[in-house]
Amino acid sequence: GEAAPYEFIGKFEVLPMYRPRLKFSHKGNFGHVLSVGGSYGKIGALILASKASLESGAGLVTAYAPECGYIPIQVALPEAMVLTNGTNEIEKIVHSLQIASVTVGMGMGTKEATANGFKEFLKANKVPIVLDADALNILAEQPSLLNLLPALSVLTPHPGELKRLLGKWKDDFEKLEKAKEFASKYDLILVLKGAHTITIYNNLGYINSTGNPGMATAGSGDVLAGIISGLIAQGYSNLQASIFGVFLHGLAGDIAVMNHGYEALSATKLIDNIGKAFKELF
Ligand code: AMP
Ligand code: MG
Repeated sequence: GEAAPYEFIGKFEVLPMYRPRLKFSHKGNFGHVLSVGGSYGKIGALILASKASLESGAGLVTAYAPECGYIPIQVALPEAMVLTNGTNEIEKIVHSLQIASVTVGMGMGTKEATANGFKEFLKANKVPIVLDADALNILAEQPSLLNLLPALSVLTPHPGELKRLLGKWKDDFEKLEKAKEFASKYDLILVLKGAHTITIYNNLGYINSTGNPGMATAGSGDVLAGIISGLIAQGYSNLQASIFGVFLHGLAGDIAVMNHGYEALSATKLIDNIGKAFKELF
């Protein structure tokens, strides 16, 4: 028969996805994430995503930022390497690194020079890519860029970003139908963020079970993009990384809420509980 159109994702659905670390592994086995974003006053978004990639297990992270990000990133995140270009916004995105995955868009801005640099980067890029925030806003402004994305690229819109990509919908049913159509048309994975995040791929939807309203806070989505990219870098498929990443992000939020309550839950506390989320599962 036909596959059910929606699957509920709980602990027992993600357990078999886990890739345990082998005793003789080294950082080269866990992939190099290129984390691209930030602008004057929004370098924090890039730091959060980059740190989340490291805490979810990526072997190496290079943050690609405008010039004004150089010192703050090096100070906040000594584990990351930093490449810079432009002054207060990213202009070009050019590198010669061996990367396993890209995260792009967090706090990046949508200035013309940035959008042009992003377009040239997409033309050259061959590795899996997670697109969030301003990368989605640029795609909404220039839909032809969607054709430059590798198959199974991961888009992580919140409802506002989704509306810019899909246009308006009248109810949740129409929203999901439009999302499925869009994902199929461009062969993408759409992570529809919200209280119950739904990951859409190939006409199927994966409904997440973890998370809480404490996560409705600044930077929460940047952390998710970083987690998903960090998992892809380690060899999870883009779809598994999306489903598992959304689950881990929500579980980190559930653990954080037990210790800190809803109001004080911050994006940094989400990152600090990624490790406990893994430990609770494995
Ligand atoms: P962003 O708006 O990009 O920062 O993304 C917000 C993140 O927080 C997404 O991963 C959402 O799924 C999550 N989130 C926001 N509100 C809630 C909620 N009420 N319950 C659970 N997760 C939420
Ligand atoms: Mg966001």
